[in-house]
Amino acid sequence: MSPMRLLIAEFKHESNTFASRPTGRAEYEARYIKRAGEIIPFFTGVKSEIGGFIEGARQAGAELVPVIAANAMPSGVVTREMFNYVRDAILQGIRTSGRIDGIALSLHGAMVVEDSFDGEGELLEAIRNQVGPDLPLMITLDFHANLTPKMMSNCSAMFGYNTYPHVDTYERGLEALLNLVKMIRGELRPVMALEWLPMLIPSLETSLPPFSRVFDAAFAMEKDPRVVNVSWFQGFPWTDIPYAGSAVVAVTDDDPALAGRLARELAQQVWEMRELFRVEVMTPAAAIAKATQSLHKPFVLADISDNPGGGAPSNGTQVIKALLDAGAKDAVVATIHDPQVVEQAVRAGVRATIDIELGGKTEPAHLHGEPLKLKAMVRTISDGRYVNKGPMGTGFKVDNGVTVVLDLGGVEVIVPERKLQPADPEILRRHGIEPRDKQMVVLKSTLHYRAAFAPLAHEIIQLDGAGLTSPNFSTFRYRNLGVPRWPLSPDARP
Ligand SMILES: [Zn+2]
Repeated sequence: MSPMRLLIAEFKHESNTFASRPTGRAEYEARYIKRAGEIIPFFTGVKSEIGGFIEGARQAGAELVPVIAANAMPSGVVTREMFNYVRDAILQGIRTSGRIDGIALSLHGAMVVEDSFDGEGELLEAIRNQVGPDLPLMITLDFHANLTPKMMSNCSAMFGYNTYPHVDTYERGLEALLNLVKMIRGELRPVMALEWLPMLIPSLETSLPPFSRVFDAAFAMEKDPRVVNVSWFQGFPWTDIPYAGSAVVAVTDDDPALAGRLARELAQQVWEMRELFRVEVMTPAAAIAKATQSLHKPFVLADISDNPGGGAPSNGTQVIKALLDAGAKDAVVATIHDPQVVEQAVRAGVRATIDIELGGKTEPAHLHGEPLKLKAMVRTISDGRYVNKGPMGTGFKVDNGVTVVLDLGGVEVIVPERKLQPADPEILRRHGIEPRDKQMVVLKSTLHYRAAFAPLAHEIIQLDGAGLTSPNFSTFRYRNLGVPRWPLSPDARP
């Protein structure tokens, strides 16, 4: 008997509809677009969904047919051209690959296309239309997916991350693939139920209460042998679409009543816990004052409002300005995305002092500060490449483009050519900066940094620099939500 043939692909994006710049081919190329034969070598040994697909296929003795893997930093909506490019690559891959027994897709779940609120739903519907209703099709989704009816009705089952920081992407990929194999063998008939909640939930860590309590309840449900998977989705609140919200999806083996009951129960629990989901933040000045007065170090100051991992531009200047105003002497900021300043620093060379206008160039100033006119000394220039050593995306080869470290006199700023979330301490160590030695380490990140930085931080302080991933949702102008949302509206009801 010839081995089972499983088509795999990845198409991810978390679209922040408040970011002004659309996400096209260049933004995908800056992260990665891998085709066919490049995919297995790129992901083998990497802790990601496709890494999990590869291991699952090895365990099951199945043959993988990799088509395309495309991922971009979260940012503004995806262009129609880019969406069609990947969709058509997948559809063509299905048409031209011979016999396919099943499909596993690594998706995000919060993709907005410039003319469609439902990127993943549209993609899955196009695939279903081509392969018919019966071909087993499993998907993995990010914890920040906004679930839609089209996503539900066009796949066999879905597997959402159980962690934030996302350290279980590999496990979810493996789980999806092994369940795909079972379904193809006739050992599993997955049925799903969705409970959607009109909530915009700010980001909290899943290993701690209150989020951990939701997952404890989901894991208890998963102990029932009839249950395949119970996923809770925080959702992605910085997106102005009718589907923005939280959701629970329960998957059972041929028991729709059980799936429905579990999804309702867990959703009810999430709704009742809502007041626990409010996030504590400080102003930049208060956070800096607290860190400066301490005899301990390092303080990790997380600017959760300018997280490029949530589509913010990572060039907000409010925190740097506050550091300079406070006369900070021992601080590092990772990172300010500003390719113009990188070019200027490279031209001037190491140890040169240059006049720059740093950051603040892409969004209205009231959202994240003005460009800062400064004198800066160029400390280092690097190729911006390193390998992640922390628990998230371990082994992943990062390429930030040419990266410079600027010394503003007591405040060092890491400025990469490409936008990235500083989730791994290698972004500092690669540039000769040991985070343990600094009084303040400012990270433009909402939560992913915690996986690697929490163990080395004396204390973590969250601050709100008023950027595009601020937990203060009332600063954004939502127009397309439709029904009211908690906590914006007291009328919100599930
Ligand atoms: Zn996420």
